[in-house]
Amino acid sequence: MASPAEVVVAIDVGGTGLKGAVVDAAGRSSGVERRATPVTDGPEAVVGAVLDFAAELSGRGAVAGVGLAVPGIVDAEAGIVREAANLGWRELELGRRASERLGIPVSVLHDARAAAVAEGAAGAARGVADWLLLTLGTGVGAAVVVDGAFYLGPGGRGGELGHITIDPRGPTCACGRRGCLEAYASAGHIARHYTVRANRVSGAEEVVARAAAGDPVAEDVWAHALDALAIAIANYDALLDPDLVVIGGGLAAAGEELFGPLGRLVKGRSLSGEPPPVVPARFGERAGRLGAAITAWRAAGREDFGGWAAAA
Ligand SMILES: [Zn+2]
Repeated sequence: MASPAEVVVAIDVGGTGLKGAVVDAAGRSSGVERRATPVTDGPEAVVGAVLDFAAELSGRGAVAGVGLAVPGIVDAEAGIVREAANLGWRELELGRRASERLGIPVSVLHDARAAAVAEGAAGAARGVADWLLLTLGTGVGAAVVVDGAFYLGPGGRGGELGHITIDPRGPTCACGRRGCLEAYASAGHIARHYTVRANRVSGAEEVVARAAAGDPVAEDVWAHALDALAIAIANYDALLDPDLVVIGGGLAAAGEELFGPLGRLVKGRSLSGEPPPVVPARFGERAGRLGAAITAWRAAGREDFGGWAAAA
């Protein structure tokens, strides 16, 4: 008889790095590891790196399943990545290929939805039925939760708030259109706008710190990012009247520099004058990996993840 499953393997597949771990049923991670994503070697090399990483982690215990969080359009039910532009993936049967290689069930999900799974099951949005998650990283990821379930639309492409238009004459976005939320408020674009205008290379966190210290170019770039976020959140509020907005991703670490002014700007733009609270994600950058783990545990029949907040 097989030994009882003790852990799942969870990997957050990013455009620059793969973050993986083995996670037990109480939410404790071990063997947390980060590897480079070999994007320049082509799409198949990235698939190979993900499968190798999952196989290695699977050797570290009795594994019930695997969860893979992917930055792109995912058909979670079929385990197919429809499109992941940063990885060069199109119509990739990642779930089938991974489960054939590993011999265990594999769940594949959209990375922002993975983060929302973790925040909804055990984090900032636990017990909340109607809420929005925005992740501010290389891009702007979003997950729309209505009545306790993700709103996906018939083709699974719904809820991409990162690409709603803030200004049709605005800067060019990674999607090729102009003035998307992402083109103002992602860490990638904040860094780029500052670097071009100030003629000095700077990461987004540094831009926020410079803005707080009175650097006028940084102040202007950051003000545009905050305005764009406030417009997007106020529009979302007018449309769906959520109870909560959660912000995750690397930039959420900006803390009061982000949440202080953003809360005031959203209130100023809100139709009702009583917009939902805008709060930081509980799990920060770990949310995608933990959501992938929760999804793998759910596929294995587990239900209760309330204790993960303390353990993870
Ligand atoms: Zn866009």
